[in-house]
Parts: sequence; C-alpha cells; structure tokens
Amino acid sequence: MMAQYLALKAQAEGCLLFYRMGDFFELFFEDARLAAGVLDIALTSRGEHDGAPIPMCGVPVHAAESYLARLIRAGHRVAIAEQVETPEEAKRRGGAKALVARDIVRFVTAGTLTEETLLDPRSANVLVALAPLRDGVGAACCDISTGRMELEECAQDGVQALLARIDPCEVIVPEPSPRAGRDLPRNGAPAIEIPAFAGEQAVTRPAADFRSEAGEARLKALHGVATLDGLGSFTRPMLAAAGGLIAYLEHVGRGTLPLLLPPVARRGEERLAMDAATRASLEVLDAQGGGRAGSLLAAVDRCATGAGARLLAEDLAAPLAERGAIEARHAALAHFHRDPILRSDLRRALRQCPDIARALGRIVAGRGSPRDLGQVRDGLSEARRLRELLRASPDVPPLLAECCARLGGHSGLIDHLERALVPAPPTERSQGGFIAPGYDHALDALRETSGSARRAIAALEARYRDETATPSLKIRHNKVLGYFIEVSARHADRLMAADSGFTHRQTMAGAVRFNSLGLHEEASRIAEAGGHALAAEEAHFEELCGEVGQRREAIAATAQALARIDVSAALAERAAEGDWCRPLMLDAPCLEVVGGRHPVVEAALSKAGERFVANDCSLGPGDRLWLIGGPNMGGKSTFLRQNALILLLAQAGSFVPAQSATLGLADRLFSRVGASDNLARGRSTFMVEMVETAAILSQATDRSFVILDEVGRGTSTYDGMALAWAVVEAVHENLRCRCLFATHYHELARLAETCGALSLHHVRAKEWKGELVLLHELARGAADRSYGLAVARLAGLPPPVLRRARTILDRLEKGRAETGGLAAGLGDLPLFAAALQEETPRQDPLAGALAAIDPDTLTPREALEALYALKRAAAEGKN
Ligand code: ADP
Repeated sequence: MMAQYLALKAQAEGCLLFYRMGDFFELFFEDARLAAGVLDIALTSRGEHDGAPIPMCGVPVHAAESYLARLIRAGHRVAIAEQVETPEEAKRRGGAKALVARDIVRFVTAGTLTEETLLDPRSANVLVALAPLRDGVGAACCDISTGRMELEECAQDGVQALLARIDPCEVIVPEPSPRAGRDLPRNGAPAIEIPAFAGEQAVTRPAADFRSEAGEARLKALHGVATLDGLGSFTRPMLAAAGGLIAYLEHVGRGTLPLLLPPVARRGEERLAMDAATRASLEVLDAQGGGRAGSLLAAVDRCATGAGARLLAEDLAAPLAERGAIEARHAALAHFHRDPILRSDLRRALRQCPDIARALGRIVAGRGSPRDLGQVRDGLSEARRLRELLRASPDVPPLLAECCARLGGHSGLIDHLERALVPAPPTERSQGGFIAPGYDHALDALRETSGSARRAIAALEARYRDETATPSLKIRHNKVLGYFIEVSARHADRLMAADSGFTHRQTMAGAVRFNSLGLHEEASRIAEAGGHALAAEEAHFEELCGEVGQRREAIAATAQALARIDVSAALAERAAEGDWCRPLMLDAPCLEVVGGRHPVVEAALSKAGERFVANDCSLGPGDRLWLIGGPNMGGKSTFLRQNALILLLAQAGSFVPAQSATLGLADRLFSRVGASDNLARGRSTFMVEMVETAAILSQATDRSFVILDEVGRGTSTYDGMALAWAVVEAVHENLRCRCLFATHYHELARLAETCGALSLHHVRAKEWKGELVLLHELARGAADRSYGLAVARLAGLPPPVLRRARTILDRLEKGRAETGGLAAGLGDLPLFAAALQEETPRQDPLAGALAAIDPDTLTPREALEALYALKRAAAEGKN
C-alpha cells in the first residue's frame, strides 16, 4: 500500500495528498504532521517505513469539505486520491489480497474551487495566469465558479498594479526554462515579482503550456470555433496566458474542464488606472488593517445578492474611463433612484434569487447536485419575473433594457426543470428522491413497487408478531444485513425451532436476528426496484445537467444581467439613503464638488452621533493644484480622500456623496500618504514614500488626479521640505494634473508666488478658552499656524512637557523671525523650469567625435584627416 501511496504522492506535485481508505481520507508522513497542526486533529501512526513509524492522520469523507476549506485557507493545495474500483473488482482482478486501485481525481486549490461551502458568496474567486513575453506580460483571469474569463496585457512594471486590481487567490506563472518556446525570452521567462499578499502562492507550470499558438488552439477547441475573431481581438501575450491557464485547469481537473465562458479582451485604457499603493491608501476593497469593514466597498454595498456584491467589488476595483459607459451606468441608477417602488419590488425579487452563476459553474464542472439544478430553475424563473417588472416600467434606459433582454428566453428549460424536479431538491444525489412524481412513469412504477413491498413488510411484521405471539418482534434494516427480523433473546427459542419458517442470522447481546422467505422476497423487490429507481434518477440528472450545460452561455448572460440590475438598484438605494447626487461627467480636466463628504468617515461619525462637515473642492485648468495646510487632525487627509473617492465612485458608475459634482474624466488616480508604515515589506517608510512618489512623477498625465498627503514627512525637516517643494513644482510644471497636496510645511505657501495654477487652502481651527477647536472646514488662504502644541494637549501630553515645548517653540519662532525662517535661503531660487534647463547637460560635439574614433583601425592618412576634422569642429564650437 505504501508503494501505491508514494507513487501517488509523487504525482501530487507538492500538494498534500488525501488518500482514500474506506470512509476516511488519510494523510501520511510530513503531510500528516502539517495537516494535524492546521486542522487540530490527532496525529497517530501506522506501520513502519525505513524502520520508523509512519505519522498518519485522517478526516472523515463526509466532512472532508470543511477540512479542505481550512487547509486551502491556510494556503495549501490538496490532491484527492480516490478508490477507482470496488474491493470486489480488485479481488476479481488480482485475487484476495489485491489492493484497490486509486488515482488522483482532482486537485483542490484556492483558485479552482466551485463548492458553495468553500466560497465566499460575496467575493469573486479569481485565478490568474501570467505569461511574460518579450512584448508584454499577458494575463488570463478567470473565476471558474462562474466561468467569467478575461484576457489582458500589461507592461512588465504594470504586473503589481494588475494583481492589486484583480486580487487573485492563486497565480500561475511559467517555470523559467532555457528551452522555452519562441514566445518567451531566450534566457527563460524573466522573474515576475509577485507581491506576497495573504493566502497567495504562485504556482509554476511548464513553460511549454504558455505558448501563444497552443493558447489559441486551446481557446478555439474550447469554444468550438475555427477562428477567434468572433470573440474579440487578442494579442500574443494574452493568448499565451490563456494557454497557461487552460492547461493548468485541465491539469487540476484531471482532464475535466470547468465552466469557461468565451474570453473578453480588456484594454487598459478602458479603465481608471490605480496602482497597489493607491488602492491600499484609499481602502477601496479592504481597510488598512485588513478586512472589509471600514473599506469603501463596505460603506457602499447594499446588494441583495452575492453575485451583485461580486460585481460591485469588481466595478470599484476597476472603475471605467470612458464617458459613454459611465453615463450608461449613471442612467440605469437614476432610473431606480427616481422610482423607489420599482426599486424595492426588484430588490425583494432579487433576494429570492439563488446564485445561478455558481450553480451553473458546479454543474458544468461535473460537481453539480440536484439542488444546483433547483437553483438554476428558481433563479431563471425569478429572472423572468424581474423582466416583467422592468418591462412594465416606462422609459427604461439602454443599459437596463439590454439587461432586461437577457433575462428571458429560458421558458423551455424552466418548464422542463419544474416538471422534472421536486420543489426542494437535496444536495446529495446518491439517495435519489429528487425527480418529481409524474415526470417518469417507469420511475413512478418502480417507486410504487418498493412502496408496496415496504407496506408488505409492515404487514409481515404484524403477521409474524401474531404467529409467534411475540409483540416485541420487529423487522429492521441495516446496511450490512439489509432487512431482518429481530426478537429479544428471551423470545428467540420460538423462532429457532426447525419448522418455524425462520432462519437464524445473527445473535447479539440481548437480541437474535432472523430471516424468512417472505421477508427475503419483499426485501429483494425493494432492493431491485430501488436500484432501478436510483439508476433512472441518475440518468435524468445527467440529462438535465446536459441540457443546462448546453445553454450555459445564455444562463450565464442572465446571471450577469441580474447582477448588473442588482448593483444599479443597490447603488440607487445607497444614494437615496445618503442623499448622494448624480455627477456630471466632462472630458475637460476639472473637479467641481459642492458639499462633498467622505462616505466611510461620515458613516463612522454618524454612528457616534457626530456630524460630518461637508466641504467644496474646485479644480480647473487655471487652478489645478491646491496646497492644503492646517493642524493635525484638522481633516486634511479626509478632504483629500473624499475627493478621490468621489471621482472613483463616479467612474465606477455610482452617484457620489455630495450636493453636486461636475467631474472631468481621469485616466489615472494616485493617492500617496507620506511615511505610511510598511516595514513589513522590508523597506524603510521613507524609502516607500519616495518610491511611490517617483511612480506618480513618472506616470501621471494631465488627465490624472493625484492626492499627496504629507509627502516629505518621513525625513528631517530640511530634506522633507525640499522634497515636498520640488514635488509640488514638478506636479505643477510638468504633470499639469489636478492635485490636492496636504502639508504641514508653511514655507511651501511661498510657491503660490511662482506657480500660477496653485492656490492655498487650510482646514480651520480656533483656540477657544485655551482649548483647540477643530472645525473641519476648508477655507482659502495659507494656514496661520500649525497648532501642534494644542493638538498635543488634546492628546493628553503631560503639562510639564507641554510647558517645556512652549519655551522651546518661543525661542525657535524668535529665531525664525530674525533669520527669515526655514525657507530663508530660497529668496532667489530660480524657477523650476529654468532650473531644469540649466541642469540639462550640454552635448559636447568634440567629445562625441573623439568617442567615434577607433585609433587602432586608422591608417596614418585617415588619422591625419581625423585630426583636421577635429580642429575644424573645435573652431566651429567656439563661434
Ligand atoms: P489630518 O489629515 O488633518 O490630520 P484627518 O483627515 O485624519 O486629519 O481627520 C482627523 C479626524 O477628524 C477624522 O478621523 C474625523 O474623525 C475628523 N474629521 C475629518 N474631517 C471631518 C469633517 N469634514 N467633518 C467632521 N469630522 C471630520
């Protein structure tokens, strides 16, 4: 047995091996040690290997899913080795001692789950394959629980941002290989830096799987088309990634492919670009501390279905950058916003809707249950009802009309499933009982046979009691013996008699069991009819799954339409609840927000019974950079973020928390916080701050929106201020993008003198009876002071320390008044643009000409000519 185990373990490629033995999956050796720790189950041992006992632990097959879930969550992958023949077959094949053949039937990995119990209903479960080619990195993403598949391409340095957006639970990359196909760089695939985020592991697969030709062939075969043109236009890196993805799915499914819908090609410019640091700082899907609570998503999500919640998360993670598409979403939302009755009717209907996308995923992957068929039936019929509701509504905007059209067309299938299935089909299909009466007459007859045999057995029991005068006689059933007659030991003698008509089967402590001819006949009738009935139900199940599978694309389209309707109605609900407004989208680079609010901070404040102070923001070509000062805790960060979030929400298709908003479309959104703690990544906080700022300076365009919060804070005062100063100048002169810059360096206010499109603002505060009052109100003009000591007092710094700080501050301020302060030396600083020009190294033509000469290859005559040429060039340079 160990030989068989070790052979399978070798095939498991680093996964934990679940080895089926009877009613248990057993784990051995290192696997057992590891699993026992993670699962908190007993570690035992069995037999010996190389003279040492073999560590072992096991989980019962019927409860395997929950153990699997814990192992997957802990970052492991599991190979399931099942028995692929019965013990009887093994005996027939190889004699009494033959070992039952086993094989790995499936690999369970974080990215290839379909089970309801293993998935979070409100989060997508994305698997991504990356193919680094010479001309770009291809990415193929899919959520096999719903079949959604997208292909895209990015530059080598865009991989981190892409992964941050997709947030995959499993990443596949090619093994570096010197003999990689001609697509891959000759020296093997370049290493891709995969950020180490929670639960994520990069799996390497043979480089040959990632050839674009193979990818194209696999996609064509999968969708039964001769050319991919009908599906979209895909680049070579995209196809290579698709190849790697499909090959991996074939591998983990041992040849059975899950649901994969036709791939959608994604172009980068369709979406608002955000890098990982921006996402983290804006807390789009997860709050800084990890987890959903406190994130933008949590503050916005009012979806009625899991599928809606998944789509909303996707929308917020990748907002749009095309005005038409954004306005279409706004119009859909506005329709539900205007009509609260329609909205609540729809939302009520949606709550009844099962997750058909995931049920379909399981059915197509061959892991479906009768309950999944029931969910498809109920979901599709609910969709039909929703279509009626929407159709009755006048002036439905185009996006909703499109969704509405995709809700119907399933009447034939719904009708078939309604006739075929009982109202609440079970998850377990081996017991049967899910095909409705009246659907199959032969099945009904079989059920009738076993029903009548059961009744006959009940009658036999009564008769035997009378005949043997034993009222306690019972006819019972168990798995090993089947039906039997049982009496207590006291009454057994009567049945033991040779002519009693009963045959002895088993003697237990206190009870004796018998058989009889009559019972045997009825039991055989039940077994035979039951077996036939089960087989008939099984055949119907396969046929119904086949029919659902045939219509997979139409069903998936309905599921997507339902999710889109849910998101629109939920965002309308959120807008109504928070008094949000529909933003007006423009192509011009402006950002006019009246009465803007931060959705997360506002929610937190209102829970504490406090009021959020709304603030305006007005950026346009003539005034595109706001420098914002004021005390700590005054509300600068909140103001910066609320404007970024308003833009993000608007481009994701939502209304926004403001009285009114006119927003110019942005191509990229950047958010940076000075010296945020990121020691976990092994870089100093200041280094992180500068790396992130560098990314903005190299990537932002005049259509981007940038918020910079206390950049320069992570180093000493002089360095920090100098850097902040230079960054503001670069943003103003070079990037020319819309930008909000919060800083506590008063000295930067002097930039307003030289930067025409920069204006000064501050958050207001006042000292009242010696106490600091933060008004959280934005006002024009530079901040007069920083109130640092007042904030320190608020924070409870001991009075002697505060008094000492006051003395020092007075001295410093006196010194500043005398010398002109920190920025005293900047009186005659040349302008940023002039400074840039000055620094551009001038090309020296002589040096260039000299460098081009290779003396070893010149004839004497050529050398002389070269010398004359150089003298001529020198003379020209002087004039
Ligand atoms: P800063 O960046 O100036 O240090 P923050 O933006 O971090 O200040 O705000 C500090 C706290 O002040 C927030 O946690 C919030 O409780 C409160 N706050 C900020 N802005 C507002 C506002 N507009 N209305 C009400 N409270 C606010």
